[in-house]
Parts: sequence; structure tokens; C-alpha cells
Amino acid sequence: MENGDYQAMQARMRRFFFSGATLEPAFRKAKLRGLAVAIRRREKAILAALHDDLAKPPCEAFLTEIAETLDAAKYNAARAAALARPRRVWPGRTILPAGCKVHPEPFGLALVLSPWNYPFQLSLIPLICAVAAGNCVVLKPSRESPATGSILKELVEECFAPDHCRVVLDAPDSPGTPSEQTATALLAEPWDFIFYTGSPRVGHIIMESAARHLTPVCLELGGKSPVIVAKDADLAVAARRIAWGKLLNAGQTCVAPDYLLAERTILDELAGRIREEWGRMLGPDPLRSADYGRIVSQAAFDRLCGLAARCGVEIQEDRELLKIAPVIFETGFTSPALQDEIFGPLLPAIPYDSLDAALAYIRANPKPLACYLFTRDRAVEKRVLREVSFGGGCINDVALQASSSRLPFGGVGRSGMGRYHGRAGFDLFSNLKSVVRQWPTLDLPLRYPPYGKGRLGWLRRLLGV
Ligand code: NAD
Repeated sequence: MENGDYQAMQARMRRFFFSGATLEPAFRKAKLRGLAVAIRRREKAILAALHDDLAKPPCEAFLTEIAETLDAAKYNAARAAALARPRRVWPGRTILPAGCKVHPEPFGLALVLSPWNYPFQLSLIPLICAVAAGNCVVLKPSRESPATGSILKELVEECFAPDHCRVVLDAPDSPGTPSEQTATALLAEPWDFIFYTGSPRVGHIIMESAARHLTPVCLELGGKSPVIVAKDADLAVAARRIAWGKLLNAGQTCVAPDYLLAERTILDELAGRIREEWGRMLGPDPLRSADYGRIVSQAAFDRLCGLAARCGVEIQEDRELLKIAPVIFETGFTSPALQDEIFGPLLPAIPYDSLDAALAYIRANPKPLACYLFTRDRAVEKRVLREVSFGGGCINDVALQASSSRLPFGGVGRSGMGRYHGRAGFDLFSNLKSVVRQWPTLDLPLRYPPYGKGRLGWLRRLLGV
């Protein structure tokens, strides 16, 4: 589509929005239920598309993409009506007597730009939250996951009127075509809300575009998420869970453990156990395991191989299959692996002698999207939660904070702004309109001049502030 077509598309969608259809909670609920039914019906095709795009094993894809999306659809369908209801708020003494309510209302037209790594759920969960809140949505999936992009388009066309929700796919590449021309053209138009998931680099571009129209944004970004293992941790469980968290989608998970900080005395044992777990999970030939996904593209594959080479780490890889076996290696804070987000199955492990040093390193760097801690010591847990700022995380596990349909999910600082999932998702896509309702007949004269001599004293006594 050309820019002019996007303007016409937006005009039609705005007309639909102003028809008021999306203001009816029953309408939102019916749409979300319909979407859930359509997803269940197409489960096989969705799994096949995720396999085409990333060789995702069906169990992994079902769990992390389909089940989470269905859970979000179910949650939002069940609660859309209750969440849309005006919420009573105590007015406080300064405006008593008065009735105060927050009226959630949809923003209007929301643009959702999604990435390729969890292309199904990172497209549909924001769309579900936006629809539950009563918005119209344009979804632009990533060009790097084209099979899932096509399924998303089919699904959305089947479940929603085109002026309610639609999917815009990238135009096929042609020589000399700027690769992100679709997203760029969409971003040139005025939206009522922009929801972006992807890299912090592109996050800058999104925010700059949104600033032109003063459009509110939610940025779900990435970064370097540490996993800290204290010496009192259950090493068997820590190893298994860290190994699993790094295997998911071949490490291309925004909340994957990016690097490991372990107390020096346990690092060797922990690293050995993580290798054993990978062996158990993927068998002797990890590159041919059906339970292990692939790297998204040649460019990403080459970047990861280059990083391994700069770190002096030998890896098992297959350029044809775009697969790299998971690897853990001991290194230091100045390693190239500690510069940018790894987003692949390489796990640098750094020993620490005191928790002070580990926490000081994390705090000296941009606030991570996730942070994980393995310990049995509640005091250590409390300390990490108090001293380290991060989007979300787990104690004695990894990645699960992103999988709840209720727990608010998002980043902080360079890892993002805004939160969704559960009620937070509904509120994110809503303008929470605050309204004071007064009784026409009850009109206390206290606020009106002339104030006279004694009014100040009266006000002080009455308000008690
Ligand atoms: P990406 O930024 O390359 O692409 C994501 C989306 O942005 C796509 O829809 C793409 O079309 C659009 N886009 C890309 N370049 C653009 C440009 N120049 N102008 C306008 N739009 C553009 O991100 P990615 O490589 O697909 O995803 C990887 C990153 O995303 C990692 O940093 C990862 O940590 C992060 N991530 C974060 C979350 C989260 O929930 N916080 C989830 C998944 C991925």
C-alpha cells in the first residue's frame, strides 16, 4: 500500500471506531471468543508456520505461542466487560462532597509492530489487549517470519471486519526497495497508540516517529538479562532451568538469560551441569534435534558465529540448517559477549567473588528486561529485588514472568516502557478518563469569594491537611 492508501485505510477505520461498535463489551467479548475458536481450529497450520519460520518444535511452539495467546484471549474475553466499567475512586477531602470515577475508554486506532522471534503471540496478545479495550488495530508483523505473517493475516481477516482489525504485511523485497518501507510509511501516519516490540535500536526510531504526532507508545524492548546463581542454590534445578531458558527458540528470546553470574566456587560445577542438561534435552547431535529451533536468518547466524569467534569459543554449527548448538563459556566483564544482547544460544558465564561486585556490574549497565536469581537465602533475594532495577524476573526460575496472562509484563529504561498482560494490558490501551460528578443542588459556598476573614481558618479545620 502507498501512504495515501494508509490515510484512506485510517479514515475508514476511524469511521468504524466512531460508529461506537467497539464500545460494546459484548462485541469485544464475541470477537475475542471468535479469535480463540479460529486459533484452535488452525492449530496445525500455526505450528507448521512457526516451524517454517524458526523450526520451532511443536511442543515449544504450542506452549510459548499458542497456549499463551489462547490464555490471553480467554482472560480478556471474560473480563472485558468488568474492566470497561467505570471505576469508583475516593475523591479525597479537598473536593468532598463529590463522586469520582475513572472511565476507561479506548484510544481509537492502535498500531502494533511485532518482531519475528515469537511472531504469533507477540502479534496477537497486544492485539487482544487492544481489542478488549475497544480499539481498532493495524498489525504489522516482521518480514523475517513470513509464514506466520500469512497465518496472522488469514486469522485476522476471518475474525474481524477489515475496518476493525487488519494485518499489513511487508511488500516483497525488490532490488533497491528500502527494507522497512511498510513500517516507515505506517509510522508516518497519526495513530492514537503505538505498541512496538523489538530492538532498542528501532525503539528510538519508533519513539521519534511517535513524537511527531505526540502519540503515546509502549516499547517492549530487549537487552542483556543476567542470571545470578548464589552458592547456596540448588544447582541441579538451576542448571536444568537455565539450560531450558537458553534453549527456547535457540536463545532468540527477549527474556532468555543473556549472561550468567555465578559465585566462583560453584561456576565449574554449574557449567558442567548445564552442558549435561543440554545433552539430555537435545541428545548427542543437537544440530539435528527436532526439539531445537534454528537461527532466524543467515545474517543473524553470521553475527552469532562472529561473536563466538571474537570470544575465542568453538561452536558446533551448520550454516545450511541455520543451527548453532548451545554453548556455555567462562569469560570476564570485558568480553565482547558482554557488549550487546546475544539473542542466540551462547551463554557467557562470569565468576564473582562477592554479590556486591555482581550487583554493581548489573547496576552500572542499562536496566535489563529480566533478571533471574537462584538462591535459597531470602536475605539475598530481598537484597537483589531492592537493589537491582529490571522489568521483571524470577527467583529460582527463568523466563516464566513473561508467560503469565495476568502478571504485568514490560521493561524499564532501555529495556522498554509500558506494561501489558492481564489488567495492565487493558489499561495500557485505554485512556483512563477521570470524571468528577457533582450534585447540582449541594453547592457549598466555601470555595467562592469573597472569602472574608474567617474562611482560611475554616478551610484548615475542615480539610485537616
Ligand atoms: P526489530 O526491531 O528488527 O523488528 C521489530 C519490528 O520493527 C518489525 O515489525 C519491523 O518491521 C519493525 N522495524 C524494524 N526496523 C524498522 C525501522 N527501521 N523502522 C520502522 N520499523 C522497523 O526487532 P527484531 O530483530 O525483530 O527483534 C529482536 C529484538 O526484540 C531483541 O532486542 C529482543 O530482545 C527484542 N524483543 C523484545 C521483546 C519484549 O517483549 N520486550 C520480545 C521479543 C523481542
